[in-house]
Amino acid sequence: MSRPLSKHLVQPQRVATPLPLNIHVFHPGKQVEIEWDDGLTTKTDFVEFRRYCACAWCRQQGLIGHDPAPESSVIKAICAVGEVGINIAFTDGHDRGLFPWEYLRTIADGTIANGSRGNASDE
Ligand SMILES: [Zn+2]
Repeated sequence: MSRPLSKHLVQPQRVATPLPLNIHVFHPGKQVEIEWDDGLTTKTDFVEFRRYCACAWCRQQGLIGHDPAPESSVIKAICAVGEVGINIAFTDGHDRGLFPWEYLRTIADGTIANGSRGNASDE
């Protein structure tokens, strides 16, 4: 007779951060399409990445309530930063924002703005 030991153990669910398999930049549409290894494909406007640029200057602007994202800013380059994430360079001169995978995912799937964008139109 076996005893179901596992029934009494609380096993924390470790949820791995989804990683991008492919990143496509569409310049005419100003969108970034990311295929994630959990099967999700996201399409995100450039301006969203610019808005959440994590460089020191943009973080400070965010803290004082400014939206630092010019609608016209365009992604100039995306570079891998080791296995940590990507660096996105924008045409308005911001090129020091690191986007770790987890952070990138929250921007891409829209969960980053919980609360702050809660009143925006949901589709
Ligand atoms: Zn920035």
